[in-house]
Amino acid sequence: MSKAAQLTATIIAAHGRHYLAEADGVKLQCVTRGKKTNVAVGDIVHITLTSPDQGVIDKIAERQTLLYRSDQYKSKLLAANLTQLFIVVATEPGFADDLVSRSLVAAEAAGITARLILNKTDVTESLERTRERLQPYASLGYPVHEVSAKARPDEAMEVLKPLLAGQSSILIGQSGMGKSSLINLLVPDADIAVREISAALDTGKHTTTFTRLYQLPELGAGSSIIDSPGFQEFGLYHLSEGMLERAFVDFEPYLGQCKFYNCRHLIEPQCAILTAVAEGKIAKMRHTLYGQLLHESSQTLY
Ligand code: GDP
Ligand code: ZN
Repeated sequence: MSKAAQLTATIIAAHGRHYLAEADGVKLQCVTRGKKTNVAVGDIVHITLTSPDQGVIDKIAERQTLLYRSDQYKSKLLAANLTQLFIVVATEPGFADDLVSRSLVAAEAAGITARLILNKTDVTESLERTRERLQPYASLGYPVHEVSAKARPDEAMEVLKPLLAGQSSILIGQSGMGKSSLINLLVPDADIAVREISAALDTGKHTTTFTRLYQLPELGAGSSIIDSPGFQEFGLYHLSEGMLERAFVDFEPYLGQCKFYNCRHLIEPQCAILTAVAEGKIAKMRHTLYGQLLHESSQTLY
């Protein structure tokens, strides 16, 4: 018998232990060995083919980045090898600052560039107010890109395509912000692809609620976008206290300046972070979120 063929592919969708991988435009149904479910969308994997379009995952290549989602107070794998996270917000309906901030922290912790997309700029009544709400994020260094997926789709693509070129990106957003509208502009046959993937993964009830990756070859090698259903609450439980404080870019100038080397920046005297909050140099909202995340991650230790 000839030696089984092996190849390298990218995981483009996952459902339980069933994965869909793609290599040079060819899709392969894959499973892991044993009961392992440690593969994430975006992973580069080495596969042994068991038929022309099926294989077994032997090995996961070393990951450049890894983003986690939250699942019942645990951090679970969401996507691997991302370089960029886009948070879609809109002029209406309103968005939650808390979710935006959490997403930014998740991106920082994973070493991924974060950007905001302000969609529905055609809704002029709430445009100025929304811009003001986004100003604190822009001040922290997160770019805000304004688009209107519905009123000016061509212009929206002109804004987004150069940002996506050569990057492995994920688009996330609360429901109603226009994430699907943007994905459909970027990947015109996304709906067909989802049905195909659903069938290939044998998800049963034609479910479309799975994370999937679309290659964007027209934007150059290595360009891809991941669409994740619903709003992903990012898993931040796996972060240590040190990782958490470093994920707040606004804390950076003050770290290492507290009186106590193991300061948790909550109630300690002569804490440089608390002083910066009191002086308005760090937004109160950000410090509150830090406290919540610290509390949440310590809860899961027991
Ligand atoms: P998702 O829930 O984030 O995937 O949002 P959708 O793409 O389904 O859009 C939610 C609603 O907002 C739909 O009714 C869209 O037609 C509408 N919408 C999307 N983009 C725009 C836009 O740029 N301007 C306006 N006015 N409406 C938009
Ligand atoms: Zn401190």
